[in-house]
Amino acid sequence: MAQERILVVDSDSGVLELCLRSLRAEGYVVEGATSGHQAIEIARREQFDLLLVDIMLNGLEVYQAIKEFTPEIVGVIITGSERTEEIIKALQLGFDDFVVKPFTPDWLSSTVAKALNKRRLERENVRLWTLMPLFELSKDFLATLDLNSLLDQIVQTGLQETKADRASLMLLEGQELVVKASVGLPSEIAAAARDKVGQGIAGWVAGRGEPLLLADGASLNPQIREAMTREEIASALCVPLVVKDKVVGVLNLSKLGEGPAFTQGDLEFVSILGGEAAIAIEKARLYQEAIEEKRKTETILEETFNGIVVVDSDMRITAFNPGAETITGYVSKNVLGRRLSEVFGPEVGGDDSLLQKAASTGERVAPQEVVISGKLGARDALLGITPLYDSGGKVFGYLLSFADITHLKEVDRLKSNIVANVSHELRAPLASIKAYTELLLDELEGDDRDLRQRFLKVIDQETDRLTELLGGLLDLSRLEAGQFVMKKEPLQVGEMVADTFGLFDIQAQESKISLHADIQPDLPPIMADRELVNVLIKNLVGNAIKFSNEGGRVDVVAREEGANLILSVIDQGMGIPPDDLPHIFEKFYRVWSTTESGIKGVGLGLVLAKEAAEAHGGQIEVESELGVGSRFIVTLPIGEQVDEQ
Ligand code: ADP
Repeated sequence: MAQERILVVDSDSGVLELCLRSLRAEGYVVEGATSGHQAIEIARREQFDLLLVDIMLNGLEVYQAIKEFTPEIVGVIITGSERTEEIIKALQLGFDDFVVKPFTPDWLSSTVAKALNKRRLERENVRLWTLMPLFELSKDFLATLDLNSLLDQIVQTGLQETKADRASLMLLEGQELVVKASVGLPSEIAAAARDKVGQGIAGWVAGRGEPLLLADGASLNPQIREAMTREEIASALCVPLVVKDKVVGVLNLSKLGEGPAFTQGDLEFVSILGGEAAIAIEKARLYQEAIEEKRKTETILEETFNGIVVVDSDMRITAFNPGAETITGYVSKNVLGRRLSEVFGPEVGGDDSLLQKAASTGERVAPQEVVISGKLGARDALLGITPLYDSGGKVFGYLLSFADITHLKEVDRLKSNIVANVSHELRAPLASIKAYTELLLDELEGDDRDLRQRFLKVIDQETDRLTELLGGLLDLSRLEAGQFVMKKEPLQVGEMVADTFGLFDIQAQESKISLHADIQPDLPPIMADRELVNVLIKNLVGNAIKFSNEGGRVDVVAREEGANLILSVIDQGMGIPPDDLPHIFEKFYRVWSTTESGIKGVGLGLVLAKEAAEAHGGQIEVESELGVGSRFIVTLPIGEQVDEQ
């Protein structure tokens, strides 16, 4: 315990000397004064636990004056034997005991010890009483996890229990203390109040990490004195809030008026309150951080397109996010608790799986391509696995993160197909163009005009083929990217069929194929995009001729049916094998037998025809029998007629 401090006031230097010596011998820190005035001056500068004062030096007034700023000080009066009345009065006014001159050192020291002891007991008592509400409070604090209401509760308690006029709680933000809760403080002051560490009363306390009790308006520190005057504070009490040896804030209490100043008991109470508050604040902060962290993680899990699945060390599913639901088709509640291998199949959860690899090495498995067997069938996925460790370094589960790459793989396959088909189709015409150009460059013998014409014709046809191929690819990409702007106009389908026949005339003649159009005579015009309908008719008629045998026949029939135009393109050609039928509208799909027989094409014609029909809200169906022929039936809405002005 710190040494107790005594101030002795006596004008008789003999008595003063005796007191100083005998009390110092008892282990007290003792100061002497020879007048009441001098005593008050000394007591202003330093704190004392006990005042021993001669009654002849206005002892009563001196005691009361010092009590103003040191309310806890114990008073012992020195008096003459005959002054019984004065002794009674002194005791009534709050002195704790008295010694009568002449006294022995023993008497003095036992009186002083008794008085200090009595005060100590009183203090203990007070402390016990203050501990009771604190005990109740700390229970409340620990139950409060909402930081703001906790801070309000702390300032309210501080204010009520110390009868302060103002209370505020400031928390450290960087090097600044910011008011987070207050009572009795005008809100604009509270909002603007910021103390830097080391500045102002709160800053001083935060800087030192020690409580401060200013019982009167005075302080030795001019900076604090100035702050008190500025804020019209009569008495201030400020304690640091300390968590793990680090100041996190301060609790400020102040009294403004003339009433009694804060006492040592108040300081003790507020110090304990501050201790409890600091722990509760830290707990609420950690809780809030944990909640925020949890929300963040939950949002990520909810919103990510990736599948996230957590399994425990038994490989049973403990978490299954919406991304995983979308990819696999399973609903979270139906798979939680089930073994991963049962749900995802052997490649992910089985004996020789990536999960087992993660389990045996205890290390992260970098993303790899696997096949996940979901409810929606097999999906290609890129899967990475990370073991989850507890704080003791033990694996308690695994986190599986995967992306559905089925579509990407399909695109990849298509891309390879495109590259293979397109490069093949580009190379053939380019090769003939190159060959015939070289022949022409080599100068034909005798400048054979006919031969030159033939060569140039081949070059011309091959160039057309190239243009057509590239055009088809471009049309397709435009249609698929949704960039194609449709221009609808009334179209006479009969005329368009006739134009197409004209286009294929030579080709048909070469193969002795006859072309027949059967167009309903009063067929109304359809509202459609000319370019697209052209693509549609051209590709179907072209195919019908291409896949017909020599001497065959191609029919185009157009009829109005309800609100639709039904256009059928019929041939008596080779037909399509039933297994291929569902695929012929896929990009670059060609029936193997037709490709083998050397018939040219890239597998885009039907895709384009289908896109063109669907762009108008129509459709294409196909009926075919191998060796007998095929019939492509297009349905197109006739559409509302707009009179051409
Ligand atoms: P391409 O004609 O360039 O090969 P398409 O997309 O027009 O491409 O046709 C896809 C495939 O469908 C053709 O390769 C062919 O095998 C088959 N096919 C299309 N039309 C017919 C038809 N009228 N008769 C027989 N097979 C056809």
